[in-house]
Amino acid sequence: MKWLELAAGYACNCRCIGCQACSDASSDQMAPVDVLAWLRRGRRQGADHLWLGGGEPTLRRDFLATLRAARQLGYQRIKVQTNGMLFAYEGFAHNAVAAGMTEVNLLLRTLDPALHDELHQTPGAHAAMRAGLQALQATNVRLEGDVLLTTPTLRELPMLVEAYAREGLRHFNLWLFSAHEGGDAVRDLVPRLADLTPVLRQARAAADRGGVTLCTLHTPPCTTPPELWDGLFDAAGMSLVVVQPDGRAFAMETSAYEQGVYPTTCEACAARSSCRGLRSDYIRLHGDTEASALTVRDIAGRDLAGRTL
Ligand code: SF4
Ligand code: SF4
Repeated sequence: MKWLELAAGYACNCRCIGCQACSDASSDQMAPVDVLAWLRRGRRQGADHLWLGGGEPTLRRDFLATLRAARQLGYQRIKVQTNGMLFAYEGFAHNAVAAGMTEVNLLLRTLDPALHDELHQTPGAHAAMRAGLQALQATNVRLEGDVLLTTPTLRELPMLVEAYAREGLRHFNLWLFSAHEGGDAVRDLVPRLADLTPVLRQARAAADRGGVTLCTLHTPPCTTPPELWDGLFDAAGMSLVVVQPDGRAFAMETSAYEQGVYPTTCEACAARSSCRGLRSDYIRLHGDTEASALTVRDIAGRDLAGRTL
């Protein structure tokens, strides 16, 4: 194990459309003693990178204690994946960095404050995130963006990358919105890969202009512009174990999000061995006709090994 991803609790101060990882149920909260036990176990099993996810990890009362414990145990990278809102509280960002937080992945969707709040189903979410970002910028923490690609926000991706690169974010992970758990109620939010392709190209150009990097998750090579192939996500390369609040653990690459399906056309594809296929929830909504076999010539001289986060 290289990475331990601890989703210690599903409590969240937002109610994002399509998110099934937020819950106030006590059964969806790991006891602090178990958090510490997992931190030790992760180190024993070789992990030196920690990813605090959720839910919203900053809401937990043991958040700072967890950061301190992780640092004392020797975790080198301590990543916090967050909606950023609590960092708006005075001193919180500074205290988190002092406790050991080395990097922050900020959930981003749109530059439009009203749409941001609407997608988060939380009035004031955008303003709080912006205040949180301002506080984080005053520290030396590494800032990254986790951008959720949805149909209504897709076209602004290049502008969003450009704007947040100017704000000091150094890297962006592009997550294709999923209807795995939200069902058909959120189907209109899942963009078509064909619509994504030109936007990814523009986003890459924006990233290059801003001197930042991109990683794209769940977009197979045949639907991703070749100039982004060096940013395809390598889930297995993460060597990451996800731990849920109830203590169940699994390797990231075995999750439903990472286990793609291979349409028949993939049999003739030269990129098959380095591709994870199309996500099953995507196929259920939009079919598999966008997949098209790549030839040996298409991939000649290209590195399809992917990148880790
Ligand atoms: S901020 Fe994250 S955990 Fe909270 S509701 Fe939104 S997507 Fe879910
Ligand atoms: S055709 Fe299939 S194997 Fe080839 S890149 Fe597309 S999804 Fe992957």
